[in-house]
Parts: sequence; structure tokens; C-alpha cells
Amino acid sequence: AAEPPPAEDIGADDIFIAVKTTKKFHQSRLNLLLGTWISRNMPQTYVFTDGEDEELKKKIGSHAINTNCSAAHSRQALSCKMAVEYDKFIESGKKWFCHVDDDNYVNVRTLVKHLSQFPHTQDMYIGKPSLDRPIEATERLGDNKMKPVNFWFATGGAGFCVSRGLALKMSPWASGGHFMNTAEKIRLPDDCTIGYIIESILGVPLTRSSLFHSHLENLQQVSRSEIHKQITLSYGMFENKSNIINLKGAFPVEEDPSRFKSVHCLLYPDTPWCPPQVVF
Ligand code: UDP
Ligand code: MN
Repeated sequence: AAEPPPAEDIGADDIFIAVKTTKKFHQSRLNLLLGTWISRNMPQTYVFTDGEDEELKKKIGSHAINTNCSAAHSRQALSCKMAVEYDKFIESGKKWFCHVDDDNYVNVRTLVKHLSQFPHTQDMYIGKPSLDRPIEATERLGDNKMKPVNFWFATGGAGFCVSRGLALKMSPWASGGHFMNTAEKIRLPDDCTIGYIIESILGVPLTRSSLFHSHLENLQQVSRSEIHKQITLSYGMFENKSNIINLKGAFPVEEDPSRFKSVHCLLYPDTPWCPPQVVF
């Protein structure tokens, strides 16, 4: 089905894309993104990391943000980064906040098209649900009281977006140091905390999109002819096997294990390092 007409005429510069990374992945993961989709979308993309890296600063300057959060893979360290992403988005004045991991490829053209269906002033939380049912959590109230809560949340590893209208309403639970406190109340990871604030506290439902992809799903199921329509892609391991999209593209799997270089050549064939296009 054709997408409905745009609700709002937005461009890539209306979106704030936060990429979460950690110093140990600057070489192995971030460089691939910098060489592919970020290179075409530098003005709207910010990289949130946890250590100084002169090489990275030389490449992207103020778009590399050292959160000063711990480099551990702990719930607290990840929430600390999400809190900084949120604050920087609010500061940016942009219309949409999108978060992705450093193993995501973002097709910014389809992202812009998708988000333009919705007014940014409306309450919008868009992504792929992590589970096939709401997560069951326990909210820790004061004086040792506990309360069960159920809510849906979008997987951080597939990327998700929040409209500015909604992001502003999240402020009492998300801005400054509040995000860390909120995360402690339910003791769940950062992406769950986002879902908790939006669905459970503010009562705004997650808008499901099948165009966001994490490596928690079988990526072979993304059909080749539909790759250019997806908003995010990923790569990784799934049940001990390499989980990548099925794309016979510009580079063989040995040279392009994530398939991101091949995807990039499909979307931006004028890239100098892509093999020349054969035009019939
Ligand atoms: N990450 C991080 N600190 C760490 C480990 C991972 O910020 O100590 C980030 C990583 O860069 C990525 C995200 O957290 O953006 C998810 O990490 P990963 O893909 O390794 O794990 P997953 O949760 O997908 O299995
Ligand atoms: Mn991952």
C-alpha cells in the first residue's frame, strides 16, 4: 500500500539521530558507519561514547559526544548514555529524536519519509516491539512498596524515534539526572525505561513499525527487493550463527561481513568506492 500523504514537510535536518557506542567499538563498528550511512548524514547524526578518541574528533568534531558515562555494559552505564542523548536532543531544537546502536545501518531517506506521516507536535513513539507481549516489570515506590507494571517498549537495537511533542512531556522523568532515577525505579535497561516513561507513565502507545530491524530477529527474512524500503538494518549473532541480511551486492561476505557496504552501494551508487553501475 502507498504511504499516506505527508502530515508535515520535514527534511533530514529535522531529525536528531543519536548513535550509541563505546570506546572499544570505535574501530570495529563505528568506522563502518562513518564510512557508510553517517558520511551522507553527518549534520543530523551525533555519536555518544564513553572515552576520548582524537581520531574520532578529527573525523566528526563536535558530533562525537563523550558522555563521561562508565564504559561498562551495566544498566546504569547504558542509562547514563541515554540520558545524555535525550538532553542533547532537547537542546538541539530538532523535531524528532531517533536512537540507534552502533550495529545499525540507517536509511535516512526512508526515515524522513516515514516520520513525515506524523506531526512532530503530536505524541509519537515509533519502533519495533522487543517482545510479542508487554514486559512485566515491578515499579519500586517509596517505603519498600512495589507495584507490577506492564508496558510495550521498542528495542533499542532496532532503533526507535520519539516526536518532540512527546519528548518534552517526558522531561520530568528523563531530563537531567531524572532518567537515571527512573531507570532505577524499574531496574531495567535504557530502552525499557523509555517505554516505561512513554507507555506506563504518560499513557502513549508504541506505534509499531516493521521497518526497524535488530539482530534479535532473523535478518534473512528481510527480502532483497525490500531492502531499500527498510529504515534500519543490523547484523550480529543469533542462536550462535551469523545473522545478516541476504543481499548479493557490491561486495562478497568476506569483504563485507555486515553487508552494510553493499547496502550503502545500493542506496548511494555514486559513492566513489562503490563498483561502477552497469546501466543497460
Ligand atoms: N554498548 C555500550 N557499552 C558497552 C557495551 C555495549 O555502550 O559496554 C553499546 C554498543 O555500542 C551498542 C549497544 O550498547 O550500541 C548494544 O551493544 P551490543 O550490540 O554489543 O549488544 P546487544 O545488546 O545488541 O547484544
Ligand atoms: Mn547489538
